[in-house]
Amino acid sequence: MSSYGPTTAAAAADALEVAAGGSYRVCDTVVLICLACASSLIVLTAAVCFRRAIANGYAAAAAGSNGGAGAAAAASCGLAPSALSAIPMLAYRRGAGWAQCAICLAVVRDGETVRRLPACGHLFHVECIDLWLRSHATCPLCRRDVGEAAAADEKV
Ligand SMILES: [Zn+2]
Ligand SMILES: [Zn+2]
Repeated sequence: MSSYGPTTAAAAADALEVAAGGSYRVCDTVVLICLACASSLIVLTAAVCFRRAIANGYAAAAAGSNGGAGAAAAASCGLAPSALSAIPMLAYRRGAGWAQCAICLAVVRDGETVRRLPACGHLFHVECIDLWLRSHATCPLCRRDVGEAAAADEKV
């Protein structure tokens, strides 16, 4: 009976080792799968977040132009809605020459609504320049600061 004990103990130890080895392998596989899933999830989340950030940026810009409540958010990189609306808007009348919108590269046709930037006198389609000025505060053609000129015009 004395030899029975150690044999069972050794068998039990063997069984434990096998179980431990087996579970280790399973754990490794699970960890690897988890890592792969996590990394792909992170990439996916980052992509979704990036798209949402872009969408939110456009939404904030649109809200800023409509209300003015989002002026602070829009003014961080683009022109404030009040400054944007201060830029003179006119129906284009073709004179001797012709004008081209430097944003969409189309020739400005008679009767189209354009904005003439007070700082430099460059004119663009109102929808083209409004879209540009929501994310920039400079003339897309000569890079003069549109916001400063508009603010100066308001003060004078
Ligand atoms: Zn245009
Ligand atoms: Zn200009």
